[in-house]
Amino acid sequence: MADITLEAFETEVCNFLDANAQKKEAEKKFVWGEGSDKVAMFEEKNRDDELADVKKACAWRTAKFDAGFGWITGPKAYGGRELSSAYERLYNTVENRYQVANQGVFTIGLGMVAPTILAHGSEAAKDLYLHQMYRGDLVGCQLFSEPGAGSDLASLQTKAERDGDEWVITGQKVWTTGAHYSDLGEIIARTNPDLPKHKGLTGFIVDMRAPGVEVRPLRQMTGGANFNEVFFSEVRVRDDHRLGDVNNGWNVALTTLMNERATIGAGGGGGGVNLYARVIEMVKFYGLDSDPIVRNELANLIIHQKVAGFNNQRAMDKIKAGQLPGPEMSIAKLAGTLNSRRLGDFVSKVLGPKLIADSGEWGTYAWHQLILGTPGGRIAGGSDEVMRNIVGERVLGLPKDAGIDSVSPFRDLKVGTQKS
Ligand SMILES: Cc1cc2nc3c(=O)[nH]c(=O)nc-3n(C[C@H](O)[C@H](O)[C@H](O)COP(=O)(O)OP(=O)(O)OC[C@H]3O[C@@H](n4cnc5c(N)ncnc54)[C@H](O)[C@@H]3O)c2cc1C
Repeated sequence: MADITLEAFETEVCNFLDANAQKKEAEKKFVWGEGSDKVAMFEEKNRDDELADVKKACAWRTAKFDAGFGWITGPKAYGGRELSSAYERLYNTVENRYQVANQGVFTIGLGMVAPTILAHGSEAAKDLYLHQMYRGDLVGCQLFSEPGAGSDLASLQTKAERDGDEWVITGQKVWTTGAHYSDLGEIIARTNPDLPKHKGLTGFIVDMRAPGVEVRPLRQMTGGANFNEVFFSEVRVRDDHRLGDVNNGWNVALTTLMNERATIGAGGGGGGVNLYARVIEMVKFYGLDSDPIVRNELANLIIHQKVAGFNNQRAMDKIKAGQLPGPEMSIAKLAGTLNSRRLGDFVSKVLGPKLIADSGEWGTYAWHQLILGTPGGRIAGGSDEVMRNIVGERVLGLPKDAGIDSVSPFRDLKVGTQKS
């Protein structure tokens, strides 16, 4: 039984937000040619601006946590308030009416890493990290993918070797979102190459500023550098920073990946801009709203978007009812990325060459950021093909993907240029 009613909680929330944030202006109807024409999938900031935004995001999270709204559903032992998700939904609805610092920097740390620490971390790790992560004192990243292990994550080669009460980690990770501003990372490493590939892995929490950790930015085709390569040279991690049992890292990774798909599925993409309202106005602006082919394609686009929205809602309701995110999340992810591609194709047809030359005309060249960002969305968190495999196996009941060797020792598999 909660020690506060929803009504009293709402008053508390409104008092806090009134005292600490400005109310948003009433949403104006979108008018073609007015306001920002930015429609990027990934924010393309320089590193100084990005760091300034990370600081603002952390400051807001600290204020919110100290007022009792940083981890509404979390256990009291680690700084949470142990209230039901109805209280969290209420907080989010009210906060959404105010201008607060963008919290995207916590998507991975709080959406994926912290739930994994809560599920698999030692008492010492939970005590040390959860409070600080939810308070915005620490930002987390996900160190899974490697040059030879993405979709087939279990082929990873970064190794962790035991040395007394510590582990020594050596190897390379890649595509690590936000590694350059993160304080800690969840890493999966190989601890026993003599076991089959899914069985010899272990998860750890690693200090991103420890000696031997080197973060190098990767520039993507949109111009920004949100991702990194991270090199580990004999990085020492205490055994109480291990996640789960030794060689049980595959289950630890699955906890994170389930939460990743739920986090991606819940997101809208496109920087919160209502892209579909924009496209409708674009069609009208260029006088194509009476063209039957354009109308047909536009209707198709919107039908697909609505269907994906209903499927997302179904999956979110299941999670809110306390059930684990299931294959709906794979459908949600696949539908979201297919819709981004459809949208990009449609916009390309309407704008033609205006899309590729920066003529300064409002609402034209700006779309190239979304179109160039879309392939990244189709790969991150499981590629379209991998999502199709999951839907085939878990929704349609088709046979398992051939070629996954779950029996031979990892050492005997021909994976990249493995040395172990
Ligand atoms: C925007 C973005 C952010 C990311 N952030 C992170 C991060 O923070 N941390 C992290 O660890 N990783 C991150 N990644 C990496 C991401 O998880 C991997 O890129 C992804 O798992 C795919 O792996 P890969 O790039 O090695 O491609 P591969 O797995 O080599 O795939 C290459 C191609 O083969 C296809 N393919 C592979 N296996 C199969 C199969 N069994 N059946 C059919 N087709 C298949 C794929 O669909 C793809 O088209 C990020 C990636 C992106 C794009």
